[in-house]
Amino acid sequence: MAHRLVEALATDADSVVKRLRATFRSGRTKPLDWRLDQLRALRTLLTEQSEAFLAALNADLGKGATEAYRTEIAFTLNELDHTVRHLEEWLRPKPAAVPDAFLPAQARVVRDPLGVVLIIAPWNYPLQLALAPLVGALAAGNTAVVKPSELAPATSAAIARLLPRYLDRQAVAVVEGAVPETSALLEQRFDHIFYTGNGAVGRIVMAAAAKHLTPVTLELGGKSPVVVEPGVDLAVTAQRIARGKFLNAGQTCVAPDYVLAVGDTAPALAAELAAAVRAAHGDDPAGDPEYGRIVNERHFDRLTALLGEGRVVTGASHDRATRYLAPTVLADVPPAAPVMQEEIFGPILPIITVPDLDAAIAFINERDKPLALYAFTDSDRTKQRLAEETSSGALVFGLPVSHLAVPELPFGGVGESGMGRYHGEYSIDTFSHAKAVLDKPLG
Ligand code: NAD
Repeated sequence: MAHRLVEALATDADSVVKRLRATFRSGRTKPLDWRLDQLRALRTLLTEQSEAFLAALNADLGKGATEAYRTEIAFTLNELDHTVRHLEEWLRPKPAAVPDAFLPAQARVVRDPLGVVLIIAPWNYPLQLALAPLVGALAAGNTAVVKPSELAPATSAAIARLLPRYLDRQAVAVVEGAVPETSALLEQRFDHIFYTGNGAVGRIVMAAAAKHLTPVTLELGGKSPVVVEPGVDLAVTAQRIARGKFLNAGQTCVAPDYVLAVGDTAPALAAELAAAVRAAHGDDPAGDPEYGRIVNERHFDRLTALLGEGRVVTGASHDRATRYLAPTVLADVPPAAPVMQEEIFGPILPIITVPDLDAAIAFINERDKPLALYAFTDSDRTKQRLAEETSSGALVFGLPVSHLAVPELPFGGVGESGMGRYHGEYSIDTFSHAKAVLDKPLG
């Protein structure tokens, strides 16, 4: 029975990829007009069906309509509009200088589409993280299979139901499912695999891709630190940290994971964080319709098990039946505590005290390279030292999480936080081949 299921899934995956490859080979995805048409159709889908998507996001993650619209729909529309605005210019061949010895030859770099792309999306921003990569894949002239996350089943179903109504069905396919379906897809030969999720599955994806020499982009996670130096405005600092941390109940890949409070900042910062949580979510965040829920019971149990060490400054109350975990700040957390051993990926913010900037930098560099490093400081010297002495996917001063909404900045990790990058023109780089063309006249 199980064997027959695996065979059936393999046959399905094979036929989907064959269909998309035939479309790609026909050349229909290459003209600029086809690409722009698809992007505009995606825009229409997001605007016409926004209510359906918001309902699905609420069912999956308890996302409030305002937050869900901003982080999932408006975000993707921005990415789309930026791409539509610049695509023609990005696709223009770039002239390259030719050494004198080859003159009068001419040289240029052209961006060739790759072919059939596989996009594997996670559950935490299940719409944005399926569609923003698709914007890049289509803009670069590819066909694409989108595999949404089974852990956000309502959003996955909405994507599967609605995408084919708006986009070219011969060029874009949605395959729903969990491990068996994804494994069957990974047996196929793709021209690029774009995976967003955790590093353990990232390794599975990369191993499968290696069999076909398929390039991969891995958008992973990790613990993104926030350095807070003495002397900064702690009320503003706390408000901005809390906003980035408790968005989507902390289930954001670039959420501040923990705070490194330099010198004597921890007690005052902790108090300001508690005030910021109250100001944003009220005295009882369970009643705030904009405050999300933990995706499932497994993650809920994992998170509540992390509450054991450290002093609770605010939060920690929880309810398994509704998968509610209050925005939580923990002070005096020892670096060896369980909450400091893995990416938290939930609404728990530990504060660790370090004596000075040297200690903060050492703490960061002893661990995996983070997806983002945040700092609140008034010192240009500190900014320069963090830029020069640490490595992270992004370095952001003063406004956690905001960098991913700047379409001219590349978004991606380094080391354990991932490989490759996307957004805006970087997506075009990811989903195309920079082909060298040299043309020397005869005679
Ligand atoms: P997830 O469980 O939804 O898994 C991601 C995808 O991998 C899903 O589509 C799932 O079906 C597939 N998958 C799971 N197991 C598989 C297997 N054995 N073989 C093949 N495919 C498999 O999401 P997740 O991994 O829990 O997501 C959370 C992680 O993702 C966090 O670490 C977070 O930081 C990271 N993340 C990173 C980014 C980013 O842009 N860098 C964005 C969001 C999340």
